[in-house]
Amino acid sequence: MYSASRTQQLQGNFFAQIEKRIHLLKSQGDDVIRLDIGSPDLPPSPEVVRALIDSASRPENHGYQPHLGIPELRRAWSDHYTENFNVYLDPDTEILPLLGSKEGIFHYCMAVLNPGDIVLIPDPGYMTYTRGALFAGAVPHYINLNAENQFLLDFQSINPEIVKNAKILWLNYPNNPTGATATIELFQQAVDFARHHQLFLAHDNAYAQVTFEGYTSPSILQIPGAKECTVEFNSLSKSHNMPGWRSGIVVGNRDVIQAILKVKTNIDSGGFRPVLDASVVALHLKKSWLEERNLIYQARRDLLLSALANIGLVAAKPKASIYIWAKIPPGKSSVDFCSFLLEKAKVSLTPGIIFGPSGEGYVRIALTTSTERIKEAVSRIVNFM
Ligand SMILES: *Cc1c(COP(=O)(O)O)cnc(C)c1O
Repeated sequence: MYSASRTQQLQGNFFAQIEKRIHLLKSQGDDVIRLDIGSPDLPPSPEVVRALIDSASRPENHGYQPHLGIPELRRAWSDHYTENFNVYLDPDTEILPLLGSKEGIFHYCMAVLNPGDIVLIPDPGYMTYTRGALFAGAVPHYINLNAENQFLLDFQSINPEIVKNAKILWLNYPNNPTGATATIELFQQAVDFARHHQLFLAHDNAYAQVTFEGYTSPSILQIPGAKECTVEFNSLSKSHNMPGWRSGIVVGNRDVIQAILKVKTNIDSGGFRPVLDASVVALHLKKSWLEERNLIYQARRDLLLSALANIGLVAAKPKASIYIWAKIPPGKSSVDFCSFLLEKAKVSLTPGIIFGPSGEGYVRIALTTSTERIKEAVSRIVNFM
């Protein structure tokens, strides 16, 4: 069987491979603690689950839904942007529900890129920006993010010859994998840069509501005029502990949204009505629900940071996201370091290299395991270091 040549540029997914390895270890009776994948372990609010059940018990809610979803959901996201960011979004033209933001990120690439276009991608970064570009026949160009610059994009560092042929600039703050957060000034620079060079600007805001110690994370659409060139992706996966539900959105520039809609009408047939209904309830939850959940992540973060400091792994304290980005001791690649910890300590971390070449020398530790298990993981790591 021959697969299409376009699939050959998609190397295997790291998490699919690690899952096989972990499955094998577990079948041998090993107790593996997973701090690798960024899938929230805590449940959604019971109100959200109840809304799903109520909606699913109605016989009329099982049919195909419009690609634009239900008006209540688009209005709820519009209200969310007004309340949290003071940004007005027209629910009918500037908001498009997605089957998770990953799907939207990929289809955005199909909607705006021509073969040969260059896509500017922060490195390290979320893999789907690269994979979407490749699938569209475009050319990813990595822009280094580094600790000296707090993992913020340095627009001066981008080669002008490259920029000339670029079509999209990606941003993601709070950042996966580094946990870095942006200032509104950085967003202003990004919008200025994109407008000056006539780029599409895409901001991935998946972690906007996973924040600590009163930090609030901005939307790039707060920058005046941003909508001329910008879309922002958002999602309930990380913010509301709903990763398996597949409920995201893209908001902002209406022409781009029309183009994504055109792609999507040819690929999917809308979301599941009970998920749409429950997503409305999620967006209306009290702020205290988010705050309580964030305090749990914060306690895990602090537990890990103090343990890491004791064993010489250097990491900054993130103000948001569900990750710690830690520098590993020299001498081992990030893949070898993670394999060593998995085989010896039965603790699984994500090697930095899978997020791009600049991720080498780092590991990503996810806060998505219970505090008890994190304590256990820490003591095992300490034993083997
Ligand atoms: C988890 C994640 C997503 C994907 O979220 P879904 O809405 O579940 O598809 C998108 N971007 C980043 C940076 C993420 O970490």
